Amino acid sequence: MAESLREHRVVVIGAGVGGLVAALQLAARGLSVTLLEAAATPGGKMRQPLVDGAAIDSGPTVFTMRWVFEQIYASAGANLADELTLSPLPVLARHAWDGGERLDLYADPARSREAIARFAGPAEAARFVQFCKQVRAVYDALEGPFIRSQVPTLASMSGDLGLKGLAVLAALGPMSNLWDALGRHFQDERLRQLFARYATYCGSSPWEAPATLMLVTQVELDGVWSVAGGMHALARSLASLATRHGAHLRYGQRVARIETEGGRTRAVITAAGERIEADSVIFNGDMSALGQGLLGENARRAAAPLAPAKRSLSAVTWSVHAPTSGFPLERHNVFFQPDYAREFGDIFARHRLPRTPTVYVCAQDRGGAAAAPERDRLLVLVNAPAQGSQPLTETEIDACESHTFSLLARHGLSLSRTPQNCLRTTPGDFQQLFPGSAGALYGMATHGWMSAFARNGARTRVPGLYLAGGSVHPGPGVPMAAMSGQLAAATLMAHLDSTSKSRRVAISGGMSMR
Ligand SMILES: Cc1cc2nc3c(=O)[nH]c(=O)nc-3n(C[C@H](O)[C@H](O)[C@H](O)COP(=O)(O)OP(=O)(O)OC[C@H]3O[C@@H](n4cnc5c(N)ncnc54)[C@H](O)[C@@H]3O)c2cc1C
Repeated sequence: MAESLREHRVVVIGAGVGGLVAALQLAARGLSVTLLEAAATPGGKMRQPLVDGAAIDSGPTVFTMRWVFEQIYASAGANLADELTLSPLPVLARHAWDGGERLDLYADPARSREAIARFAGPAEAARFVQFCKQVRAVYDALEGPFIRSQVPTLASMSGDLGLKGLAVLAALGPMSNLWDALGRHFQDERLRQLFARYATYCGSSPWEAPATLMLVTQVELDGVWSVAGGMHALARSLASLATRHGAHLRYGQRVARIETEGGRTRAVITAAGERIEADSVIFNGDMSALGQGLLGENARRAAAPLAPAKRSLSAVTWSVHAPTSGFPLERHNVFFQPDYAREFGDIFARHRLPRTPTVYVCAQDRGGAAAAPERDRLLVLVNAPAQGSQPLTETEIDACESHTFSLLARHGLSLSRTPQNCLRTTPGDFQQLFPGSAGALYGMATHGWMSAFARNGARTRVPGLYLAGGSVHPGPGVPMAAMSGQLAAATLMAHLDSTSKSRRVAISGGMSMR
């Protein structure tokens, strides 16, 4: 098998975290792996543009589920702690509301409980403790049957959950949405708003997300780390490990077409016209790109494009390198507005930029024992609709910018932006960066109870073509997309294993089992 593995040529399209992990794992297993990435650097959404001379993380900023990466590095014979410097953050996030009200959530649950007691009273703190018990139970119930499963279905998950797991889900209330479920825990609307926001980590509205999505809260309560060099350093580290295992990573290479022969993947053709033979292909771009025909007609049937109504959130972001004052920034900061429902009504029902956006600010050089820098490296982010039939106009985006920065100013945060030190990225820009996505950053929104089962798994209808990334199971977020890369590699290996076994049977018994 080892010899034939080296002969098996895999092309991975895209160096997002899913593509990098798949490339790493297959190269570590001895396959011949070439990764082709359109951008000049690895990382995909984990990008780090230079703004006014400073490299600013302008995609994911919250590093969670460290264990996922520990396993991935270990599976490639490496130790995560030797490859990357990760530091646990004592403050998970600082939350601010009008009138100077602030609440920090801590890595230490006892500190969070005390902070909530001071902020909203002891009864609400006791409710927080009950809430933590429920999110722990929901996470534990779903980790095996859903997150780690290859392609969960309602039937397989019901079987895997067992009576205990089913009881945990039943306790959430039949078909309950996240917002309603949180209303049964918290009487203080601010806490309901704080924990509802975790739906946006999957690009979804708390009013449409199933209550099970409260498991995202557990992911953050289990710890948030800062990565030395930023999240982009994770991408570089995975890329270098994959290279050490013999994968050939090539940047500035957009794949224009996947070629098939007899219905099976045969080669990929780059935009520059180069043809690279491929026995298997892993596509790490947004899976809608396939159904839209962006990778050629032969790959179109691999995956259906996402209906516009099912798209997840996009964002408008500002990457800023500027002195700040007037607000004690933590690493992760959230500035809320009072009318939370209006934000999601604007985005998902009225398909426009929110008039009252919640504003997230990552201050990359803050957190832990770090002293305040002279100039902060900031990512300012507000949720936005994915691109519809009408692209957003400059006037609309300017208005959103003004709502965003006046909210920060109301909280006392002043930062001097200039055209040189501020880079704005819009849903239209995200669509350009991630073709086929319409700027939706998390694939399909997790709206409704069945949505979790609607995501594609790694396998497609085109033999030899596999999927990895945030638009497929188990979903978006850096660790989840990394897991999708593991699933794609495992699915491909299982296929090779089964074909090599049937070949062995064919050779020894003279009869093919296929
Ligand atoms: C602003 C923002 C904030 C976020 N915040 C967080 C957070 O705090 N924590 C978290 O865990 N997650 C966060 N996420 C989500 C997370 O970043 C993504 O879910 C994850 O990084 C997606 O990885 P992926 O494997 O799908 O690949 P992507 O990052 O989507 O990369 C796909 C790659 O494929 C390449 N590609 C596509 N088509 C082709 C082609 N034809 N030829 C060659 N290359 C191609 C693209 O250039 C790209 O590099 C955030 C995302 C964004 C954008």
